[in-house]
Amino acid sequence: MDFTFTEKEEKFRGELRGWLEVNLPKGWLQGDRKLPEDNEHYSKSLRDWQRTLYEGGWAAISWPKEYGGRDATLMEEIIYHQEMVRVKSPPLVNYIGIHMVAPTLMQMGTDAQKDEFIGKILTGEQVWSQGYSEPGAGSDLTALQTTAVKKDGKWVINGQKVWTSFAHLADRCFLLTKTSQSEKKHEGITVFLLDMDQEGVETRPIVQMDGHQEFNEVYLTDAIATDEDIVGEEGKGWAVLIALMLHERSGIAAQVFTLEQQFDSVIEMAKTIRVNGTPLIEDPFVEDGLADLHARINGAKLNYYRNITHTLKNGKPGAESSLDKLLVSELTKEVFDFAMTIQGHAGVLTHDDALFDGEMQRQYLASFGATIGGGTSEVQRNTIGERILGLPKDLGR
Ligand SMILES: Cc1cc2nc3c(=O)[nH]c(=O)nc-3n(C[C@H](O)[C@H](O)[C@H](O)COP(=O)(O)OP(=O)(O)OC[C@H]3O[C@@H](n4cnc5c(N)ncnc54)[C@H](O)[C@@H]3O)c2cc1C
Repeated sequence: MDFTFTEKEEKFRGELRGWLEVNLPKGWLQGDRKLPEDNEHYSKSLRDWQRTLYEGGWAAISWPKEYGGRDATLMEEIIYHQEMVRVKSPPLVNYIGIHMVAPTLMQMGTDAQKDEFIGKILTGEQVWSQGYSEPGAGSDLTALQTTAVKKDGKWVINGQKVWTSFAHLADRCFLLTKTSQSEKKHEGITVFLLDMDQEGVETRPIVQMDGHQEFNEVYLTDAIATDEDIVGEEGKGWAVLIALMLHERSGIAAQVFTLEQQFDSVIEMAKTIRVNGTPLIEDPFVEDGLADLHARINGAKLNYYRNITHTLKNGKPGAESSLDKLLVSELTKEVFDFAMTIQGHAGVLTHDDALFDGEMQRQYLASFGATIGGGTSEVQRNTIGERILGLPKDLGR
């Protein structure tokens, strides 16, 4: 693959840079990046940001033009990620809607579903969550217990979901249920587009160890859905889920640019902290560790580019995105682990008491979740072994 961007691609970068300078929230580029802490204002400020992105034509650049996207090429998407990371842009509150639910609906949804949901996902009017995991079904989703039973023409849903990201802010949930029992584990699963604003849906927040509250338990007690809410065919939800997960893994993989930026912030920290008057970065142990991480992050980026080339040739992401996901999430953990180590005793402080307001500490704690969410590292290794290296199948499955 040719790593230099074409003139047209650089023009695209310039257009985005110019737009960001004018449209990022006031003071953002100067470092004033505090978002409100309480749910209501946090949600509102992020929905406002998505609306701004939408109005500028930057909310979903990879979507086809007919749905309000830009038909962006994969290279333009890469540039988009790089620029958003460069300015540390506010998070996309409807990441699940934009990058996973809508592309899956474009592929497999009915015309009515496309009309009803895609526009609202784009503007941020409707925020989505995804409800797969349950207390006894995480890596093995076929063990799910949530049932949907048809009564008087409606589906009645009962069960419990867990680790449901953004459920506390979401209007709808891409929900996995069992609609019939079958000998074959992957059969009898049905995906519903569940309206979360109803009595039978109760969301209980789970506070993460980094202090944030991004995921939840969701209790479903006689929640109601209709036939019109089913994606694809009743009982054939596994195929829908696989389509959605390929979108998820390739999205996570693009976080290699976030990783680079996080690594740069650790370098900045090492330049700023002084021990006995000498900047930490001049310590041979620190230099060594940074060099090692730099080489491996670069390796992960080149691997990502190689997989992008593969996607360009095949038209869709493949099992290789598991390799990217594994490398990026494990390296993120190592980068912040190193940031903690070089802070020495000061590393145990948090929040305002810590260096850089405890940002490294927060990121260190959050980095553990990245190796679990979207499929654990062990499960990615299984996929790599079976589907890329052609090793025998995992005996546990
Ligand atoms: C930050 C974050 C966000 C998340 N967001 C969502 C969300 O929005 N919606 C949602 O539905 N879920 C979400 N999850 C849940 C996530 O998908 C699950 O936690 C994950 O799939 C693992 O499932 P589990 O927790 O049940 O662990 P288990 O599957 O019980 O795994 C326990 C351990 O066993 C290992 N293991 C399991 N099976 C195998 C195997 N075959 N081979 C080798 N090792 C194995 C695992 O790697 C792990 O170490 C999120 C999780 C995190 C951390």
